[in-house]
Amino acid sequence: MTAENNLIATLAAIVGSDYLSTSVFERLKSSLDIFPYEKKREELPLVVVLPGSREEVADIVRYANQEKIPVYVRGSGTSFTGAARYPEPGIVINTRRLNHFRLNRDNNYFECGPGCSCNEISGLLAKEECFLPLAPGSKLVASMGGLISNNTSAHIIDASVGKPGDYVLSVEVVLPTGEILETGTTGLRRPAGNDLTKFFVGGDGLFGVITSIRMRLVPDFCRANGLLIYPDLASLARGVQRLYYDRCPVPLFMEFMDEKTADIGFDLKQLERPGGPVIMFVAIGNSQEAADQAAERIVAAMNKEKPLVAERITDAGRWDILWTTREVIGSYLMQSTGNQWISAEVVSNLAGLEECMHDVVNFTDGLPLLSTLDSYLFGHIGALTMHPGVVLPRDWDDDRKRQAVDEKFAREAELNLKYRTCGGEWGQFAKRTAFFEQRYGPEGIKIIRRMKEVFDPHNIMNRGILRPAG
Ligand SMILES: Cc1cc2nc3c(=O)[nH]c(=O)nc-3n(C[C@H](O)[C@H](O)[C@H](O)COP(=O)(O)OP(=O)(O)OC[C@H]3O[C@@H](n4cnc5c(N)ncnc54)[C@H](O)[C@@H]3O)c2cc1C
Repeated sequence: MTAENNLIATLAAIVGSDYLSTSVFERLKSSLDIFPYEKKREELPLVVVLPGSREEVADIVRYANQEKIPVYVRGSGTSFTGAARYPEPGIVINTRRLNHFRLNRDNNYFECGPGCSCNEISGLLAKEECFLPLAPGSKLVASMGGLISNNTSAHIIDASVGKPGDYVLSVEVVLPTGEILETGTTGLRRPAGNDLTKFFVGGDGLFGVITSIRMRLVPDFCRANGLLIYPDLASLARGVQRLYYDRCPVPLFMEFMDEKTADIGFDLKQLERPGGPVIMFVAIGNSQEAADQAAERIVAAMNKEKPLVAERITDAGRWDILWTTREVIGSYLMQSTGNQWISAEVVSNLAGLEECMHDVVNFTDGLPLLSTLDSYLFGHIGALTMHPGVVLPRDWDDDRKRQAVDEKFAREAELNLKYRTCGGEWGQFAKRTAFFEQRYGPEGIKIIRRMKEVFDPHNIMNRGILRPAG
């Protein structure tokens, strides 16, 4: 029996042959990500498995560790950093069947499997009048395991309700050596001092396979919405600074689009064009009165930078239409042009926001390929996060597309280094490894590599993701 046949037979015995695939189509589909170029044949996974329990995961990982075969854990593969484009042939563990949901009202938490989608959990919690502190643009498909491994704030402003990890009481993890570990607590107070949960929440899938997530229930808030249109991006940036400098309650969401992008979104929803860059925000409070007051304070503070429009939106139907102009803009840019969209994540610090806005407006300047393309700008401005992006011609060859993606990451790194920030979404490493090394120095990356050795002596989990990606 060849090593590969042995691998397939062993995995089939663990998960059952219905939950294992070696078809080229499945191996390709399970190792592609959002990047616009094709996958190299030599990087295709050996096999895709769908375990149905933590014990099956443990058996798979133990075998992989013994044979030193790479293991890549796949949620929905929507990662933007290259973490879902596995660099070496190995075993892909698809988490779709690890999809339990257990509501524990007595202890005020829920537990879910990593394969549940964000939208699914959010819907289940809404029935309990609770709120899931996660809201990515990919919520229809993004898995809880992927989101928690990235600890992404997504569209939510960290300064408002914190990071998702702040609500994670515990995770159950299969370590790369096959042991099953439960971290944290069943209480409502997270451990002080060294809390093992921290290694896995935001662990970029490097230290183990999360097989269950326990999160505190968060009562939903009342909301109040608002719209601001500024004459230009500089005054918009100053408006956002006012929000913080005037000590306003930080909203849950504050999104923005430059004028060109807003025009496209407003045209799509047949609204009159705004006539300037747009901000939309969602303020929150424990009562409607508190949310309304928060929104009033935000509008009053941001009004000091002389917007063309500063209003509360109380009509729910009108709000839905306005919000959609921003919510679907990335997909609409792709659909309407038939091309592909790539964007960066530039994060400013507060004092530098006006200058950073200028930098992202000129994001593609001097870049050989990107500067030849139309660029657009939108993002989560309340979190000081901007997504400058371009529409990439579908018919470009793979080499040009690769170069375009590399140009994008290089400029993103340059700007985040300039402002001494880092991405608050999408996770670190893969295409961002070089940035991590520059940002936190050789000692910073060495700490991660050493931690990896401690958890994963044979470097099976997400092998290659810690290398600067080619
Ligand atoms: C249209 C679109 C919109 C998006 N919008 C946002 C946004 O608003 N904000 C944002 O932050 N991101 C956004 N993203 C990217 C975002 O990173 C992902 O959607 C999400 O965080 C990853 O979920 P996933 O299930 O696809 O994870 P994957 O891409 O499958 O995995 C991500 C990482 O987590 C690891 N992983 C997955 N599951 C586990 C597990 N059970 N145990 C251990 N490691 C695991 C993987 O190995 C990988 O390293 C968007 C993506 C798309 C395509």
